[in-house]
Amino acid sequence: MDACAQCGGGVEERFRFCPWCGATLRRKFVEFFRAHPRDAGKALRVSRYVTDEPQVRFSVWDASGRVESAVSVDEREAARLALFLRPPRRFSHGLSDALRSYAAGVSARRSSTGSRKTTSS
Ligand SMILES: [Zn+2]
Repeated sequence: MDACAQCGGGVEERFRFCPWCGATLRRKFVEFFRAHPRDAGKALRVSRYVTDEPQVRFSVWDASGRVESAVSVDEREAARLALFLRPPRRFSHGLSDALRSYAAGVSARRSSTGSRKTTSS
């Protein structure tokens, strides 16, 4: 267990903020993402900097561990990217397809039994 530089309270390394005084403990968060098989051996590293000038930096790493290129975006662009990368809503589409199919079946049964109401407007 480490000590918070602000208040001296005990903090665990995984904490982003000090639970005793709220001071920011970590200023950089890093996550690696595996490449698609077409780019086997490469990796995408995304670093989020929680500083006075917050930014998210993307870097492409080759198989030897070297950075091929990198670009940083501000928080606003990072949020826009997060929206762009949201998975398609397959479940909700699948559910509405199932409901449409069920409704079509109910409608067909009503038609065949002659109980379908008609309007004469
Ligand atoms: Zn503290």
